[in-house]
Parts: sequence; C-alpha cells; structure tokens
Amino acid sequence: MHTKPMKDSDGVFSKWKKTKYTNCKVCNSTNVYYKEWDSSCGGYTDYYYRCNECANVWWVDGPDS
Ligand SMILES: [Zn+2]
Repeated sequence: MHTKPMKDSDGVFSKWKKTKYTNCKVCNSTNVYYKEWDSSCGGYTDYYYRCNECANVWWVDGPDS
C-alpha cells in the first residue's frame, strides 16, 4: 500500500486527465482519470488514479520514485 502523506502541503496535484490504457482493477472500466502528484521537495512524481464508475482510487509510483 501507498504510505505517502496526503496533506496538500506535501505536494501539488495536477488537473485530472483521462487515461487511455488503464482499466479499473475493481470493475474493469476504462472510465478512469488520473492526476500527477509532485512532491513539494521536487524529489518525485506519483500518479493518483480514480475510477469514475465505482470510485475506486489508487496510487501508482512514478518512474523516479
Ligand atoms: Zn471501477
């Protein structure tokens, strides 16, 4: 599980973007959006996904984390 703190002061979210290739792991819908999360220290970027069908959310680590 992702253990990163999620306070606004810890990083900056981008706007929501529509995914093209990601399926929800719960309902298998492709109606999935994501936003980038940049840590305030600039050390890494992660991705926060949300399924618009079942409201499932999950994190994906960026390549440099
Ligand atoms: Zn879903």
